[in-house]
Amino acid sequence: MLMNMKDLLAVAREHCFAVPAFNISSNMLLTAVLEASEEMQSPLILAIHPDELSFVRPSFVKAVVQEAIQASVPVCIHLDHGASLAQVMAAIQAGFTSVMIDASALPLEDNIAICKQVVDLAHTVNVSVEGELGTIGTTGPEAEAGAEEIIFTNPDDVVTFVQATGVDTLAVAIGTSHGIYPKDRKPELKLELLKEIRSRVDTPLVLHGGSANPDDEIAAAVRLGINKINISSDVKDAFYQKCREVLQNPTLREPNSIYPPCIAAAGAVARFKIDLFNATGKAALYKNGRKLPA
Ligand SMILES: [Zn+2]
Repeated sequence: MLMNMKDLLAVAREHCFAVPAFNISSNMLLTAVLEASEEMQSPLILAIHPDELSFVRPSFVKAVVQEAIQASVPVCIHLDHGASLAQVMAAIQAGFTSVMIDASALPLEDNIAICKQVVDLAHTVNVSVEGELGTIGTTGPEAEAGAEEIIFTNPDDVVTFVQATGVDTLAVAIGTSHGIYPKDRKPELKLELLKEIRSRVDTPLVLHGGSANPDDEIAAAVRLGINKINISSDVKDAFYQKCREVLQNPTLREPNSIYPPCIAAAGAVARFKIDLFNATGKAALYKNGRKLPA
């Protein structure tokens, strides 16, 4: 069942769980997270970053849309970190039901201006929009981009931003970074800041860089009102660690010999996250949900 983000997260907000947004840029990762979500009966956000989009053939998105329509669980297809109006419009044309416009590196007024422009366009075709306030950190070149130093979301800006832009979801910077943290860096979420932000607005809140954070902090963030958590590195890491192990056997060359255990390893991580986010079984809550026309 294909849905937009607004309708998908309204249920999560009401029932206090977070929907995982798994980044996919291959058929194998799509299979891993979709099968895990169907098995766990969890709603699912399929996230594709512009860098991932430029790597796949255009027909990949068509296949993703078709899989989402046919899925037994609610699925949203989301552009992760759209950087320009052109990227956002291309995603909408391709069939995405949600887009992020990340202008978080710009001054507040400019961030508001570009987000509002995207909201005005996207909402005319029932596509949801995610904005970002504050900046998420990065852990290195194999992770998505981010700031060297995290700029925490200023709770005083949140109401202004949400009201001025009309965004459907808001990504907040409360201490996460993209990627997997180096051993000498200990991530720590500012849960008090999250509480403060939550008390100011009703908009579903999004946590980027959810990989490699302590599980108890993530669970606490869900209890405090995070409704979407982006997971890219943890699933990919499990997949490729298993690939390396399988490929120790130099005679293997058939994809259907090599990939099934790798898909299973990625799927196991996805199932763990679904449970951690309190999303297991929550697909049942959408039985009367609004479905987008196929
Ligand atoms: Zn992100």
